[in-house]
Amino acid sequence: MLSYRHGFHAGNFADVLKHSLLCLTIIELKKKDKPFVYIDTHAGAGAYSLQSPFAEKTGEYRQGIGRLYPSQTFHPLLDSYFAGIRSLNTNSKLSHYPGSPEFVRALMRSQDRMQLSELHGSDFAILQERYRNGRQISVAQEDGLKNLLKKLPPPQKRGLIFIDPSYEVKEDYSSVVDTLAKAYRRFAIGVYCLWYPVIRRETVDNLMAALVETGIKKQLRIEHCILPDSEELGMTGSGLLFINPPWQLESQARELMPWLNDRLTDGMGTWSVDWLVPE
Ligand code: SAM
Repeated sequence: MLSYRHGFHAGNFADVLKHSLLCLTIIELKKKDKPFVYIDTHAGAGAYSLQSPFAEKTGEYRQGIGRLYPSQTFHPLLDSYFAGIRSLNTNSKLSHYPGSPEFVRALMRSQDRMQLSELHGSDFAILQERYRNGRQISVAQEDGLKNLLKKLPPPQKRGLIFIDPSYEVKEDYSSVVDTLAKAYRRFAIGVYCLWYPVIRRETVDNLMAALVETGIKKQLRIEHCILPDSEELGMTGSGLLFINPPWQLESQARELMPWLNDRLTDGMGTWSVDWLVPE
């Protein structure tokens, strides 16, 4: 039984990294007229109130998006990310935060498609209601990892597969690697993005070793830690592992990360952008 609800964490420092790089990736996919599909295996509720008892209980967003919005210190690489946030808020007040599906919905074109999976009944119901009239959007209450292979290769032959588990069950760490290896065999030209938390460094190292072991080329890793590694402090950082990232993403991340690190941690955090497996 799943208990994780993203509403407790929406807009935190990890969401800022995840969603700003997600928006940059979608912008790159849009540089060609050809349609793409966005497959979100762990979609969540689609958008979140920052005034809900969930968000207020942890207040995590205050160390994340709360440090960037509504203050006007925008970075040009964050234009589309902030446009997504502005669409749910006024310029002077931050009350809502988009989830990954909503950031992509705001950017997709009439020819593009989105397939969302969410397992938790309550978040699925909110997601389904949100995209009830979305002709381009399909929503399923299903195991997004188990059902991914059926969707590949997509008819569009272009797409982003976004894998953002809560890692509530330990098996998630091995399932994501296994699924990525199989998915890549079916759709080797797809762009893949896997989110991971930094809670114990050893767990991250094991995950990265297993990803290298798949033999998949072009794996770019982008990580941001707001605190030094620790076994006691919970999530001290997070990262994204891209397979076949858009070619500009590496340089964009190198430009963005110091800026984000300054804003989110007053320069106290650390970041890295490196090829886990090069071409
Ligand atoms: N991607 C969302 C975003 O960025 O706004 C947040 C997703 S949250 C980190 C992870 C979500 O995955 C939770 O809503 C959880 O209920 C859901 N979930 C967990 N295991 C799942 C599975 N096997 N298939 C689909 N959804 C799952």
